[in-house]
Amino acid sequence: MDFDSLIQKLSTAGIESPRLEARLLKENASDEKKLEQMLQARLKHQPLDKILGRKEFYKYTFKVNADVLSPRPDTETLVEAAAKLIEQNKIKNILELGVGSGCILLSLLADFPNLKGKGIDRSASALKIAAENAKCLGVESRCSLQEADWFDEAFINQIGGGFEMVVSNPPYIPHHEIETLETEVKKYDPWLALDGGLDGLESYRRIADLAPKLVKDGGFLLLEAGVHQAADIIKIICSKGLQHFKTEKDLSGIERCIIFQKRGCNL
Ligand code: GLN
Repeated sequence: MDFDSLIQKLSTAGIESPRLEARLLKENASDEKKLEQMLQARLKHQPLDKILGRKEFYKYTFKVNADVLSPRPDTETLVEAAAKLIEQNKIKNILELGVGSGCILLSLLADFPNLKGKGIDRSASALKIAAENAKCLGVESRCSLQEADWFDEAFINQIGGGFEMVVSNPPYIPHHEIETLETEVKKYDPWLALDGGLDGLESYRRIADLAPKLVKDGGFLLLEAGVHQAADIIKIICSKGLQHFKTEKDLSGIERCIIFQKRGCNL
C-alpha cells in the first residue's frame, strides 16, 4: 500500500498523527500482508504501541501487550521526581504498587545501578511482561516481582515494610467515566489498571492506610494523580500520617505527581 493512501485511511479514522503513524507502520511491517493487518488493527483504534508491541517511555523502550496499561508520557513526571529524590537522598530500595509493564520501577533501576526494587501487581500476566522488561534492561538481579493485591488483609505481611521510597500510578478513573474514555483506553487498556472505584480515589484510601507501614521514617511516597484529584489525594494521605512534601506538574500543567514524606529521623 502506498504511503499516501495509508495516511488517508488513518486520517479518515480520526487518528491524530496519521503521517507519523503511517511511517511507523510501514517501518515495522515485514511485508504487505502484515502492514494490512496492522493497519486494520489501528483503524479499530487498537493503540499503536500495542500493535508494535513496544513503547518508548522516559529513556527506555518497554515491551507492552493487552495485559498492561500503555505507559503514558505524563507518568515521566513521576519518574523524574523520583530520580531526583533517589539521587539527593541516596535511596537504596524502592517498592512499586501496581508495577504493570514496569515502566516506572525499571526506569529507576536502570538509572541507578545501586538501587534495589520490588514491584507488586495483582495481575500475573502483567508481571510476566514486567519480568521480560527487567531482563531486557539488564536489571533483573536487582528487581523482585510479586503477585499481591493491596486490598488484601494480609498485604503487609506478604510485602513487608520499611521501604525508603514507595511509588504508584494506581487506577484512578471513576468507574462510571471509563465508558467515556477514548477507544484506545477503554477497549485496550486493562480495566484493572484504570478503575479507581466510585469516585476514582479508592486505591488512594487503601494506600493511605498502608503507607505508614510501607514507608521507612524519612522515606518518600510518590503517587500519580488524575486531573483535579491532587487536593483530595493530599487530604486522604495526610489524614493517615504522612506529610505533603511537593507536587509536580506534567507538561500540560496538570498536578500529576504528589510527593509525601514520612517525617521522623532522616534516612
Ligand atoms: N493515565 C491513565 C488515563 O488517563 C489512567 C491511568 C490510571 O488510572 N492510573 O488514561
